[in-house]
Order: sequence, then structure tokens, then C-alpha cells
Amino acid sequence: MLKKTVRDLKDSELCGKRALVRADLNVPLDSNCEITDDTRIRASIPTLRYLLDRGARPVVLSHLGRPKGKPTPKYSLQPVATRLAELMPNVKVCFVETTDTDEAMKASAELGENEILVLENTRFLGGEETNDPRLARSLAELGDFFVNDAFGAAHRAHASTVGVATCLRPAVAGLLMERELEYLGKALADPIRPFVAILGGAKISGKIDVIEQLMPRVDALLIGGAMACTFFRAMELETGRSLVEEDRVEMARTLVDRAGTRIILPHDAMVAPSLEDAKHAHAVPRDGILPDEAMFDIGPRTAESYGRAIASANTVIWNGPMGVFETPPFDDGTLAIAKAMAAATSRGATTIVGGGDSAAAVARAGLDDRMSHVSTGGGASLEFLEGKKLPGVEVLDDRAAT
Ligand code: ADP
Ligand code: MG
Repeated sequence: MLKKTVRDLKDSELCGKRALVRADLNVPLDSNCEITDDTRIRASIPTLRYLLDRGARPVVLSHLGRPKGKPTPKYSLQPVATRLAELMPNVKVCFVETTDTDEAMKASAELGENEILVLENTRFLGGEETNDPRLARSLAELGDFFVNDAFGAAHRAHASTVGVATCLRPAVAGLLMERELEYLGKALADPIRPFVAILGGAKISGKIDVIEQLMPRVDALLIGGAMACTFFRAMELETGRSLVEEDRVEMARTLVDRAGTRIILPHDAMVAPSLEDAKHAHAVPRDGILPDEAMFDIGPRTAESYGRAIASANTVIWNGPMGVFETPPFDDGTLAIAKAMAAATSRGATTIVGGGDSAAAVARAGLDDRMSHVSTGGGASLEFLEGKKLPGVEVLDDRAAT
């Protein structure tokens, strides 16, 4: 870890000080504004706990949804603050309906021991997404030092992620941020081999840079999801009504030529005339897809052989479901991967899941706590795997400098 974390701060830098914490509390809500998955709130607690235990007073900033720079009641962080209070019963959690005002300032100044202040959605503020320096300065007034624990927002240079860190020091990573960077960073830089990556999902176009980054590093790259069909087309196989990105076929061909045997495509496919017609789902070899059928999942032979590859690996990274996991039986392939990874974790392999839908699929299978690490950041983990620098991380204090 090249960046400073909360663990590098001395007790005197923490005790009695206001910690301005950028967390990622961007949880999914249903139409009644009820939280449908509180994973991100739970994941933020260790850093808050760490700070409270050392006498610091956390002032928490986060975005929620896409309110486009103005207050929008359905994106209020109020229900998130309420849930946080339920999850931390021995702590007083206060909520203020504004963020960069005198009221927020007053609440942060009055914050007592063992209290957390949650401020309203940062994206209610016009200057958040434009990283307005004036907004950044007024946010910086709310704390005595800055902690960025919002890995899921680290790929965005916003006022509450980057701007504020340029005017408030120390600026350090939180424990969740540290954990995310360590797992993903070690897998890319120094994986314990064999290193197997599994890529799926809807589109190859969003994942080309990930393929490029991973290809020279992995021992095997297993392909599933709709993106397999674009590769099939490149191999001049019939793909029927499957989702194929015509404008990426040429690129898929070049990738296969370059990767040789390191890129592994499904041997068979689960097909059906349409998603609505799932009762007619059946497995065919990959050269047996009919013109009026579409591939909606990898087939059982593929699931088995991918499972064997995972069983022989010591590091596994997975991004993107193997099929339309939202519609059974096309969740079989995705479940098989999740189970194989859970078994790999049990025998000591490092297993990492990135991507919002993949994480949801693993959670739905009840296997999330059987992975070494499930990333809380969809877009951020993809950008990290693409080899991009995350602006919210870059701006933090370096460990070497003091
Ligand atoms: P993640 O969020 O984990 O990065 P993606 O967003 O890239 O994953 O892809 C998830 C989506 O891909 C799912 O909604 C799933 O239904 C879709 N998908 C997977 N396989 C297929 C397929 N064969 N045909 C159509 N859609 C697919
Ligand atoms: Mg997705």
C-alpha cells in the first residue's frame, strides 16, 4: 500500500478530532425508499468503528443515486443514517439535512464523543460532480482531517472525493479502501499462480481494456456471458439470435489470435428461442446453435471445465455473470462459477469478485462470505482492473512522504 491509511495516523492526530469521512453509502432503494441491500453501509462500519475507538468524531459524506445537482427527496441519505444507527446501536448517529452550510458546520463542531454525523447527499450540491473548488473548501471546513473510504466512488474526481483532499490534510485511505486496493492490486501486480480470470456479462465493448490488462498477466482467461457470442461470431460459428456486438467481431478475432490458448471460450451453450421461452432451454455444443435460438448461458460441460480450472488456481478474479442469471435456468453457469470459487477459497486460494451484477449473483447464492473479497465498487473495480489510476486514491497522502 503506497498511500497512507487511517492506521498510519497517530493517536494524537485522531483523539478529539473531527474525521471527515467520504464513504460509499450509495445503496439500492426500492420505490418506497427502503434499502434493499445494506452491504455498503456494513462495509463502511470498520473504519467508523476504528475512528470512534480512538476518540475521533466521524463526519460522513456520501452520494446516493443520481440527483443531478439538486435536492431530490427520494435520494435523501436519511434512511441510510437510520440504518447505520441500527447497525451501530451503541453510537449516536445524527443526520443533518444539508451539507455545505452553517448548519452542517455547527453540527460538526458540536459533535461529541462516540457520535457520528451523517450529512445529506453530496450530489444535491451543484459543485459536487464538477469538482468546484469553492465547494471543496467549504466541505474541508467540516473536518480536521480527511478519510476516503469510498472505493466505489474513487474513479470519479468530484468535490467530495478529490477536491476536498486537496485542501484538507492529512488525507488518508479508510480500511475498506485499503482492503479493496490490496486485493485487486496484489492480484494484478503479484498474483500467486496459477492465476485464472473469468469474464462475462453482457458486453465485450465495456471490458476490452480489462481483457487487454489481464491477458499478459493471467494463466487462463475464461470467457462467458453474451460476450462469448461475439467471439463465436469471430470464429464464424452460427450465433442465431444471441447478443452479438457486430462492431467488435474483428477485435474479438484479433484478441483470440494474440492470446492463443490462454483465452478459453465455452464448449457448449444453453440456448432457447427467447428468454420468455425458458422451458425450452437446452444445451448444445457451441457449433450447434440454430438460427432461431439464442445463447443465454454457458452449457454444463463448460461449467464443469471452468470449475476444474478454478479448482487448480491459486488466484481467481471474476467479473461478469456467465449468463442471464436473473432468469432461471440461465443462472446455472453463474452459480457453478460461484460454487467453484467458494470451494477454491476453502482450500486457500484467493478469490475476488468485482462488478455489481456479479456481486449480486454471489450474494443471491448466499456465497458472498465464502469469497476472499467481494468488491463494493462496480465501476471503480473495472477501472482499476483496466490499469487506470483512480483519482480519489491518487490524491491521498503518500506513505513515504510525511
Ligand atoms: P457486472 O455488473 O458484474 O460487471 P455486467 O453488467 O457486465 O456485469 O453484465 C451483467 C449482465 O449481463 C446481466 O444483466 C446479464 O443478464 C447479462 N448477460 C449475461 N450473459 C448474457 C447472455 N448470454 N445474453 C444476454 N445477456 C447476458
Ligand atoms: Mg453491471
